[in-house]
Amino acid sequence: MTRPDPSSIEAAKERYEAERAKRLRDEGLAQYESLKDHDLDRDPWADPDFTRDPVTEDVEVVVLGGGFAGMLAGINLTKRGITDFRILEKAADFGGTWYWNRYPGCMCDVDSTIYLPLLEETGYMPTEKYASATEIFGYCQLLGRHFGLYDHALFQTEVASLTWDDEAGRWEVVTHRGDRIRTRFFISAGGLMHKAKLPGIEGIDDFAGKAFHTTRWDYAYTGGSPTEPMDHLADKVVGIIGTGATAIQVVPQLARSAKEVYVFQRTPSAVGVRGQQPIDEAWFRSLPPGWQRERTLNFTSVATGQQPEVDLVADGWGQALKIDTQREPADDDERAMLEAVDFEVMEGFRRRIDEVVDDPETAEKLKPWYGKHCKRLCFHDEYLESYNRPNVHLVDTDGRGVQQMTAAGPVVDGQEYPLDLLVFASGFEVTTGLVDRLGFDPVGRDGVKLSERWHDGTHSLHGVLTKGFPNFFVVSFIQAGFGLNFVHFLSESTDHISWLIERCRAEGIRSIEATAEAEDEWLQVLWNASGPLARYNRSCTPSYGNSEGSRTMLAARSAVFAGPLMAYVAHLEAWREAGDLAGTRTTRAD
Ligand code: NDP
Repeated sequence: MTRPDPSSIEAAKERYEAERAKRLRDEGLAQYESLKDHDLDRDPWADPDFTRDPVTEDVEVVVLGGGFAGMLAGINLTKRGITDFRILEKAADFGGTWYWNRYPGCMCDVDSTIYLPLLEETGYMPTEKYASATEIFGYCQLLGRHFGLYDHALFQTEVASLTWDDEAGRWEVVTHRGDRIRTRFFISAGGLMHKAKLPGIEGIDDFAGKAFHTTRWDYAYTGGSPTEPMDHLADKVVGIIGTGATAIQVVPQLARSAKEVYVFQRTPSAVGVRGQQPIDEAWFRSLPPGWQRERTLNFTSVATGQQPEVDLVADGWGQALKIDTQREPADDDERAMLEAVDFEVMEGFRRRIDEVVDDPETAEKLKPWYGKHCKRLCFHDEYLESYNRPNVHLVDTDGRGVQQMTAAGPVVDGQEYPLDLLVFASGFEVTTGLVDRLGFDPVGRDGVKLSERWHDGTHSLHGVLTKGFPNFFVVSFIQAGFGLNFVHFLSESTDHISWLIERCRAEGIRSIEATAEAEDEWLQVLWNASGPLARYNRSCTPSYGNSEGSRTMLAARSAVFAGPLMAYVAHLEAWREAGDLAGTRTTRAD
């Protein structure tokens, strides 16, 4: 790489700071509202009249959630010979993210051969390098059948309460369908991004047109389906709030179907080339045993700047992330090199906009001004191109967002945009309190609620165990490792949890929980390693990744393991191998 002119880098840094300042909001995470508050939480895919008799039972494990996390928990338990488990799921099927997200154009921009888990065991060959949501949802159902998970599932079932009975050494789960399930172990695998959020906009409920969040797409209104064109929109003016990874997939589809499309932008995404292609069957069938693990590890290695000799997936992620520019530089030369790399990668994204978007004014507004690790990067081959269509209009809010709504539509800079349909592509809660995201408040030992124990944020050992909540295991990035390929993280996390449960059963351990000292030490491990990341983040535009720039204890305790996912996994492996369950308090059967 030829070193960019230092003055361009300095100018970019100033611009980053100016854009960040515009975007910062005092309310932090409190700027968002929930779908329930606005009556937008209806499940479009489920039978609303579904009923069943309540279940009363005693099982070994209850798994909350039927997305990849819950399914992988069930599969990992099964592989360890633990088959007496129940999966509780709010939706009407497996799939999690891929059950809810059926918006037009929905797909996964992580290579399908590493995103779809257990391909070697199921024998399934993905059709394309980047699988559509429809294909992924179908694969979740296939996993459910292949591993016999349907027999364990209670769908359209929400947990109403969860209470630890110390005398019995059991959790009592009560659901909103009147089920009473006693269980020895409880795995909270309810989703990493399952609680959709809405922007808190003054007058949002006054809007008189049709509105929904992308996770609740209403094809009855738009016409079409995830695989068919939306044929009811030809005479409709449609607005979409948000320009994140979801919106960039939706906009091209709306552009194709609607009369007019208004895209309300607060912070532009960096959008690189996706490069979709069919999977070559001969290549796929020639892969040697163990290929998926190798490929998965290789991708995670590439995407976390480990620079392995080869990049097996070889796509835009690797190009952008192969050098981790958040790391602590050894000296001034390395600092300058890292800054130059970061600048060049983002310049590449900005140049692409100039190349693709015809109107220079629109192109300028679409440019992302922040560092490459600040927000999730995006890859798509039709998003930027959509702005060359006469029916697509970018409404740039200059970092402020839509702040007012009338019966007709959003108001930006005093101009009202009358709409027939408003789509909220406004994302999900990620670092808010677990209790808020779960929708119930677990009651642990001595009647202490999780909301009390975690009043100032997460207290955990490895992000998994917590004091006062025996046999309660959490699958979450918070205080755990983070993987760009979520499914890689989920596979590792659920493997660890199923190991813990197997160990408890094998050794007659009645209950296991973290000690307070171990939780504090773990937090210190997270914080000690997070210096460079925190420094990098300080110049980042707000996002869900940095708790909207909040400096609260809740945000500080939402730290993730500041290193490659495999370093977190290695930490867990070493802990398991040590064999003494360090940092836990266990009780044994008499
Ligand atoms: P995001 O949180 O990334 O995006 C929400 C969008 O809404 C942002 O553009 C945000 O702006 C905008 N917004 C919020 N409030 C306002 C407001 N008042 N006015 C205007 N705009 C507003 O959610 P997504 O659903 O797009 O993506 C969430 C995550 O889901 C991704 O980061 C990714 O991890 C995952 N995902 C993965 C995909 C894949 O292909 N693998 C596809 C889709 C999603 P701002 O940026 O300023 O906050």
